[in-house]
Amino acid sequence: MGTLSSAAVAAKKSSLTPKAIISQKFGSKASYKVDEVEESFPNECPGLAIRQKGRCLYRCHLQLPELSVVSGTFTRKKDAEQAAAEKAIEMLGIHVKENNPTEEEAWDELVDRLAYLFSSEFLSSGHPLSGHFRAVLKRKGHLNGCIPISVMAMYDAKLTNLCKHINPEVESNPLGITSIILSAAEKLSGSLLPLEDHLSLKRQSPHPPDVLQSVENCESTLLESFEIQAIRIPSSVNETIETLVLNLSSASYYLDVIAEALGVTEASRVQVSRTIGKASSEIRLYFCPKQQLLDQSLEPLEVHRVQLQGSLNVRASYFAGQEVYGDAILASVGYVWKSANLFHEDLSMRTYYRLLINKIPSGVYKLSREAIFVAELPMAFTTRSNWRGFFPREILYTFCRQHRLAEPVFCIRNSSLGTSTDPHGTCKKLKVTEPIEEGKKSPVLAAAGGGESDGLTGDFQCEVKIFSKCQDLILQFLSTKAYKKQTDAVQNAALKVLLWLNLFFRESNISSEKLSSNAKELGIQFYSEYFLKEFNICSLVHDFWMSFATVEDGLLDHKHMKANDDMLENGVFSLNMGGQASGVNPSSGSLVCIGYTSCLVTEGGMKEHLESNEEFEFEMGIGAVVPYIEGILTQLSVGQSACFGAELPPLEFILAAADDSPTTISLLQRKCSLEHTITLLRVTEPLEDRMEQALFSPPLSKQRVEYALQHIQESHALSMIDFGCGSGSLLDSLLDYPTSLEKIVGVDISQKSLARAAKMLHSKLNSKLDYKVSSNRIKSAVLYDGSITNFDSRLCGFDIGTCLEVIEHMEEQEASLFGDVVLSSFCPRILIISTPNYEYNVILQKSAPQNQEEDPDEKNQSQAYKFRNHDHKFEWTRAQFCDWATDLSRRHNYSVEFSGVGGVGDVEPGFASQIAVFRRKEENPKSVEMAHHCKVIWEWSEGDRSKSAL
Ligand code: SAH
Ligand code: MG
Repeated sequence: MGTLSSAAVAAKKSSLTPKAIISQKFGSKASYKVDEVEESFPNECPGLAIRQKGRCLYRCHLQLPELSVVSGTFTRKKDAEQAAAEKAIEMLGIHVKENNPTEEEAWDELVDRLAYLFSSEFLSSGHPLSGHFRAVLKRKGHLNGCIPISVMAMYDAKLTNLCKHINPEVESNPLGITSIILSAAEKLSGSLLPLEDHLSLKRQSPHPPDVLQSVENCESTLLESFEIQAIRIPSSVNETIETLVLNLSSASYYLDVIAEALGVTEASRVQVSRTIGKASSEIRLYFCPKQQLLDQSLEPLEVHRVQLQGSLNVRASYFAGQEVYGDAILASVGYVWKSANLFHEDLSMRTYYRLLINKIPSGVYKLSREAIFVAELPMAFTTRSNWRGFFPREILYTFCRQHRLAEPVFCIRNSSLGTSTDPHGTCKKLKVTEPIEEGKKSPVLAAAGGGESDGLTGDFQCEVKIFSKCQDLILQFLSTKAYKKQTDAVQNAALKVLLWLNLFFRESNISSEKLSSNAKELGIQFYSEYFLKEFNICSLVHDFWMSFATVEDGLLDHKHMKANDDMLENGVFSLNMGGQASGVNPSSGSLVCIGYTSCLVTEGGMKEHLESNEEFEFEMGIGAVVPYIEGILTQLSVGQSACFGAELPPLEFILAAADDSPTTISLLQRKCSLEHTITLLRVTEPLEDRMEQALFSPPLSKQRVEYALQHIQESHALSMIDFGCGSGSLLDSLLDYPTSLEKIVGVDISQKSLARAAKMLHSKLNSKLDYKVSSNRIKSAVLYDGSITNFDSRLCGFDIGTCLEVIEHMEEQEASLFGDVVLSSFCPRILIISTPNYEYNVILQKSAPQNQEEDPDEKNQSQAYKFRNHDHKFEWTRAQFCDWATDLSRRHNYSVEFSGVGGVGDVEPGFASQIAVFRRKEENPKSVEMAHHCKVIWEWSEGDRSKSAL
């Protein structure tokens, strides 16, 4: 959750709030829009602490001419508005200096605040810090009533903000706060007493007896002692982290117990970090740097310098986002708002490792899916309805928060706004710079469309910028691709950035050349100096972490953890498949649901359960699961299971999943591997297929096959080639009918689809007893891997060529290129091309079985009707298709006829699938030069069948 920064505090203190300043400057041109946000997003760290669901937070968008900003999230609407105004003031560089308190005024305010904190009145306030003030009254001896300055600095935002105002450097060095508070306390020397170590303060005179009595009265009922489990993070990276138990009791001060565990006598030595992970958590780091106060004889108002000593604790520093020296303890304990009691909770090793992997983009995604071993940050954002887990944009927000960067800045550009398509002539030159809220119309777009989003078909491009806390630009990305939908542009842009960032975490020793070349490939510009400044420490933690395995006794060396010798492809071994094949296979674009269990197994057969999911759904073909699992799924059909071994993932993932860390760690001392058992539960085909099956009988795909079949039979074709054959549905079906065909060929660029086509053709062509097969005369069949836009002499001279529902999967120029190549060089006697009729989408989308997961917001999105499949690059109207095909046929001496399948041709809006049939006018095509660019990926000839029949 956001906090108002010093600028806001300063502005607030003066008569003018940030909103007032904005209003002075912009008047009614400033428009505020407040959205509700669920707290769990994006602050959630799944599985951590208690879930605080349901609380509603607010985020404010402030639109100004030429600039728009979005605030962080706040519990109160007005705080969100002030924060947005404040942000705009900062970005516009408006000087609020004259409204700021002078340094002297800040000192005065600080002194006032201190006086208030030590007052009897504060003792009974609900402020979290007041819990500490009450608890220290139970400290023994001279420490009675002594409050560590580090605690005041951490628990009172007002104090911290004033300190930041006095010296902005304390932002990065929280210890500086101690010095400032101490200096301020000297001004209260009549009533406050610094302890000789100068690290804590107490009242000169005790609270009046009645006050003390009332404190005691309300606490005495809570007398109890209890244990909590915490995590020790030794400063030396050669020592492993471990759990420890803290014995707390409400009769003492918990920080004294932590101090003791850290090897010092009392609480004032202990530094407390900000909260870690989820913002609403109480997980903090406790550590005691050897600190030395220099220049003890300074005048009041001069800042004492505190020097830190000891060795840097890299892991703890990484978590805290500040320098941590010496051993540290990670614990979840503290006084929180609205509770007089000490909040406390056990932390496990698992929590620690989940916090750790939550700092990596893929880790955030894995945790959001509760599938550490299976889920992987997908490579593409296809549609909202197919995405599972946190959205890329949320992950990027989480990532930036985790690494204490500024919030990422998204800018949307809509090319159609810059052109005359804008009916109102407003916003013409406007370069749209705006934040985006999922599925909501942005103010600018709404204005441009006059309140109606219809007709605003856009080409949206999204720019992302990431800044450090000090506003140094770390990286920027501008998509070269334009998207029809704003959401798609935003999510894809965020995803690109995440994929690149993830690379850095995947290979902790990645070279800067590799980072640069990958950035270039993705279209990312990064500023390595600033990037490394922010992220250097990450690779240290990861390096350390990797070697954690090897330190103890050298048994846990990663490189030697490969298990058996019978390794198959992709790091998978001992693959065992079972269950009846149902014939329903997952393919790219389909939603797949699996159930799985992942265990750790040792060579000796010991097994430890790590993770399982009864139903895990994801889109196939975009890398939403680890590659080897997707690979195995392509071989399974619904109802089948596979059990197989795989190499171990990094330890941090294993320990983030393990319930019983000690057992897991002890098993890891041996040769181990991961064992997965996966069952394919169901496959939901892409929307297009579902529509085609539900609305047409026979299904549209079957009608296309029958259409092609009719032409094959009429033409007595001996050879046929299927351009863009996919998984071979046409070739497969053709084998079920008697035809004159002797040679069949399929070409596609998808190896996965081709592999499936090959398997299917193989089994069909080789089954000697199949009565259907006996009815065909096929002598040879070949599958080629290659693009149909490239010339290959082996694709020439077929009697009939088909290209069903393929061209719309290419960019329009590519489709035209294919048209030219096929008619000028491949020259089939007959060529059948089918593609969706865009005009028919009206009917499909009105009556389609509305799939529940489809986003309701998309319906009133800019595009009038959606394309049928997210992979479609275009869908043509009848006129567009007719123009394209007619022009082609004229140029290459073919005739062309139009028809289609699904619906009725001469009733509006025509066929569902429109088809052009080209016929070559010349008898003999020109001879062609030999050229091979396709790869034969499977080949069959009649002889093979007789062989297998023996
Ligand atoms: N014709 C098949 C598959 C249609 S899906 C059917 O009707 O079932 C579209 C197919 O076109 C995909 O398999 C895709 O891999 C393929 N494709 C797209 N661009 C291609 C190209 N340039 N060269 C070859 N195949 C391509
Ligand atoms: Mg298609």
